[in-house]
Amino acid sequence: MASERQINVGGVLIGGGAPVAVQTMTKTETADLQATMDQIRRVADAGADVVRVAVPRDQDVEALKTIVRDSPIPVIADIHFNYTLALKALDAGAHCVRLNPGNIGGPDKVAQVAARANELGTPLRIGVNSGSLPAHLLELEYENPVEALVAAAVEFVQLMERLDFTNFKVSMKSTSVPNTIASNRLLSERIPYPLHLGITEAGTKWSGSLKSAVGLGTLLADGIGDTIRISLSTFHAEEEVKVAWEILKALKLRERGPVLIACPTCGRLQFDMDSVVAEIEQRLEAYEDPIEVSVLGCAVNGIGEARHADFGITGAKDMGMIYSRGEPLKKVPTDRLVDELFAEIDRYYESGKRVVRDEASAAEARAWLAENEDETAMTPERIAALEAAAADGEDDVPAADPAPVRLDEEISPVTGRRFTRA
Ligand code: SF4
Repeated sequence: MASERQINVGGVLIGGGAPVAVQTMTKTETADLQATMDQIRRVADAGADVVRVAVPRDQDVEALKTIVRDSPIPVIADIHFNYTLALKALDAGAHCVRLNPGNIGGPDKVAQVAARANELGTPLRIGVNSGSLPAHLLELEYENPVEALVAAAVEFVQLMERLDFTNFKVSMKSTSVPNTIASNRLLSERIPYPLHLGITEAGTKWSGSLKSAVGLGTLLADGIGDTIRISLSTFHAEEEVKVAWEILKALKLRERGPVLIACPTCGRLQFDMDSVVAEIEQRLEAYEDPIEVSVLGCAVNGIGEARHADFGITGAKDMGMIYSRGEPLKKVPTDRLVDELFAEIDRYYESGKRVVRDEASAAEARAWLAENEDETAMTPERIAALEAAAADGEDDVPAADPAPVRLDEEISPVTGRRFTRA
């Protein structure tokens, strides 16, 4: 269930039906201003809505003042163990402070941070990690780790409410994908506050992306989760942002830049599609519009499932074809496919988002497609043609005079056939 409450992190709305916000965390030493700001600019360019920086020392708080001032996106200060750093981060202008009420030194310390955040109108993120649950929940964690996580989160929420502080979001992270899914489902039914989703210590770029896609994707598809962070073992925080966007784009929750569709290839492939797809993916990064671009390894199925794509290519050994929205545009030598594809995409934008079609080139491409596709393949176009032909055939049969419906007969509303009533 989507969260009812909404918070405002430096102008980015989180929860209450706002678009799911993408965040990441810098991997630099925060006090190294040059490196941290460079990384923040890179993640902002990649589409991060907010960025978190670690603040473990006083020199990081000092740097935070400049970072908050110069960052193109809101900055969250990540604090552990030291409530005075949380107070200093709030005073440094952080747009949000993340803390774990369980390790900050007790309720009175949490109260001081909440009071200062209230004065400044700054939201907090309160977080629970499976690795650092309060001591009284350790037995429950052993028996039921999901209930233990949820119980810890609910206790912290109740503490914040007792302190009259409700300007917060909640995160509950586990290294286990099933536990993350189950606990966030439960928590979303118990509290109205925005939820920050993540799989903690998810792993490498490859396995971590998959775990995050499964865990976060499942929750997001249920409408649970208001902001996400993909945690990957990489020094390039922008990679986390790209993965987050792919998850949101796949679920059609947000749009950003082109969508690339590519066939998985098989034994019919006759050209180096791997490098072609990689080059197209990289060149598409220069476009902001959410156009759909498709790459098919061969023409066996015609344009088939890619016929809704704004632009696409289908290749063969020496020749390939460029098409748009199911209609061929032109045939080109395989080694020029990518350049010509981008020439067509650029022409589309130069013409005010209009596909420019040269009829002679399109006819030539159509002929090439007809020669190369498998005549026996049941493409959507062929199925549609067969259905149309079948419908025409039925229309050609002269309708017989229907015999009057007898008293013991009825006409089925589904098949139109008559049947005798029992
Ligand atoms: S489009 Fe061609 S190469 Fe790609 S998976 Fe289908 S049959 Fe194979």
